[in-house]
Amino acid sequence: MAGLEIDALDVHYGGVHALRGMSLTVQDGEIVALLGNNGAGKTTTLSAVSGLVRPTSGKVVFDGREVTRTKPEAIVKAGLVHVPEGRRVFSTLTVHENLQIGGYLVRDQAEIRKRIDRVYALLPRLAERRSQQGGTLSGGEQQMLAIGRALVSGPRLLLLDEPSMGLAPLVVASVMELVREVNAEGVSVLLVEQNAKAALKIAHRGYVIENGECVLDGSAAELRGDSRVVEAYLGGL
Ligand code: ATP
Repeated sequence: MAGLEIDALDVHYGGVHALRGMSLTVQDGEIVALLGNNGAGKTTTLSAVSGLVRPTSGKVVFDGREVTRTKPEAIVKAGLVHVPEGRRVFSTLTVHENLQIGGYLVRDQAEIRKRIDRVYALLPRLAERRSQQGGTLSGGEQQMLAIGRALVSGPRLLLLDEPSMGLAPLVVASVMELVREVNAEGVSVLLVEQNAKAALKIAHRGYVIENGECVLDGSAAELRGDSRVVEAYLGGL
């Protein structure tokens, strides 16, 4: 099966039981939102998938292949690419150099150039700023660069951690539009967001997690209409 399957994952940080039998799926071609409050276990879920954190039990299957406890580089090579929270761009490197770093596991230089050109076509603002230092970009531009860099590694599924964090509403909308465009080009997305409203606008399905486990799931339309979601995550609107 193409896509991602997270099955009954448990993660402990010392005495903290951060994930408790966490299960979810992302089908090939889907955008799936992962919603939950601070500390619910959203980032831990992404880190367990990308191999940054070792689960104590459970498994992660990508494209029919188990990748639990696989090294992070091998997971990136398989096409599962994590864009961590806080848009970690290299601030003293130029936009172009940041994008080149996305290709660090790709041998074929011509392929890297092709992918960077595609990112520039998708994000003309980055093309205009290709020689500008990453740290001098606006917050929204840095988020676009972080996603652009991930695209250069050739993802088939992107793990996006809070891309809307700290951005003004209009900028959030353009980041979400970028995620939608990337998905339309065939990349599946697992989207962690505190901004449930923005996430459910572009997601096909979503899960709500509390205390390290999934307590609710459904289509984006179902979740938008669910009174528990409206009250807890959509500001009671
Ligand atoms: P946020 O939206 O605030 O980022 P989150 O849903 O992503 O929250 P996690 O970062 O996954 O939540 O954290 C889940 C739980 O695990 C929290 O109780 C957190 O304090 C704990 N935790 C996370 N990372 C560590 C760590 N490195 N060491 C110890 N505890 C940790």
